[in-house]
Amino acid sequence: MKNYFLILLTFFIVTSNTANSQSIDSDYRFVTWNIEHLAENNEEGCVARTEQDYEKLRSFAATMDADIVALQEVESVKAVSRVFPENEWEIVLSDRPSSGSYECRGSGRPSTQQRVAFAIKKGIEFEKVDSFKELALNNPGLRYGLVIRLTASPEPIEVMNVHMKSGCFVNDYSTSDRDACETFEQQVPVLDKWIENNVTEGKAFVILGDFNHRITTPDNRFWQDLEDMNGKPISIKSSMENVRGCHPRYPEPIDHIVAGPNSLKYYSQGSENVFYFGKTPDTMTEEDMLSDHCPISVDLNFASPFPVSSAVLWTQNSAEYELITSFLYQEAQKNLKNLAQNSDPWVVIMDVDETLLDNSEYNRRRDKLGLGYTSESWAEWVKEEAATEIPGSKQFVTEVLKSGGQIALITNRNRSLDDYTWSNLRSLGFPIERINTCILGRNEQDANSVNGKEFINDKDLRRDQISLGTAEACWEGHPNAAEKWNRQLKVVMQIGDNIKDFARTTQENVDMTLFLSRQAKDILILPNAMYGSWD
Ligand SMILES: [Mg+2]
Repeated sequence: MKNYFLILLTFFIVTSNTANSQSIDSDYRFVTWNIEHLAENNEEGCVARTEQDYEKLRSFAATMDADIVALQEVESVKAVSRVFPENEWEIVLSDRPSSGSYECRGSGRPSTQQRVAFAIKKGIEFEKVDSFKELALNNPGLRYGLVIRLTASPEPIEVMNVHMKSGCFVNDYSTSDRDACETFEQQVPVLDKWIENNVTEGKAFVILGDFNHRITTPDNRFWQDLEDMNGKPISIKSSMENVRGCHPRYPEPIDHIVAGPNSLKYYSQGSENVFYFGKTPDTMTEEDMLSDHCPISVDLNFASPFPVSSAVLWTQNSAEYELITSFLYQEAQKNLKNLAQNSDPWVVIMDVDETLLDNSEYNRRRDKLGLGYTSESWAEWVKEEAATEIPGSKQFVTEVLKSGGQIALITNRNRSLDDYTWSNLRSLGFPIERINTCILGRNEQDANSVNGKEFINDKDLRRDQISLGTAEACWEGHPNAAEKWNRQLKVVMQIGDNIKDFARTTQENVDMTLFLSRQAKDILILPNAMYGSWD
């Protein structure tokens, strides 16, 4: 009996620990902070700070428990690193060119540069950093936006940092003839279009920054514009809807964090916060402010109720998968010497997905959303060109090409995506050129070719075209590749992860004994536990 309780107790401790660490791991705090003329050197710029001031900023920043911080008015990466040390933070700066300096009011010192930047806690996955130059309207006096794509989330989230034109603090910018409002009026459609494009493409996004505008006041024209898409409302949410700003004299907030329709499911209600520099709303005075804006934050929770399948985990995490594919490619490579002695021009026919390219990340993302494959989400993934190499495949491809062989990539990715596939492979360092490698995605003709007679599966037609030298797509637009592809080729090896990657073969008709004797000789079958013609 004692043992039983001990086991039960251990179970509770283990499970509660897991639950705890999961809730900590899955909450991401997004902060935006106009940090007011953050210079890289002491005593410079419009807010000349001492060593002690930087120390105060740094220790205050550490109390925010932030994960992703959007900063405005920073001079450089070095300036940011004085508050967010580079051993703990990745710093990304907008590439806005230096603008002219002006004399700071009161002090007469020259101003420092005003850029936007992100500080991202080390270890948080993100990619694709782009400045959003459009927001500057080709005007050197205006600031760029900055976009990162967060991939720590179940689906990628586009995160935009903005610092809009200052001086247009009216409720309807379009009726004001102030210069600032006229500039603001041109920035509005630029940001609005970015939002609408993301909504159309089904992408999750968050915009953080100094909007220099009171978008939470009733009937605010800018907010109405952002909420409207072709006459219909979209569900976007501002973190400051029910929160006052911190500034004793200007309590209506102009810093905001806006979540788009596809990121609302991660939004943690009630997590909205304003940081009063260690004070409370009642006790903080302007003297306590380390910058003229207080940082604000909101938490997004990325815990997914959907598990990632063991097939994906095995592909991504196991030593076994890497060992198996590398070993199989090595075995096939041993046989290349015999093939290279062949006097006829020869070709190796290879599949792409889970043969050369590892798409487990796509499957992981879909699992976490509780969704399966769709052709739309797949096409988006292909266009990202983010697939990685199947271990062992690049070495094999290199050896085939070195030995004088050609490679035909027969893939069931849509033909219209061939350029993305090609560029994904090239960026991984596959030494492919049009004269040695041809890519043939599936087109309608392939899909319709299966007739149960000479074409048993939808790659048979393309395999025939390659061996007969009639696959025109191989030299279309690449005339110097014609002499290599517009001729008969001997198919010496076929490689894939799906039984249909082999001529005239299906799950039903495969001859196991024969295939076993051919494995790693003239065919190579790789493991794919995630999907196939078996599922
Ligand atoms: Mg495949």
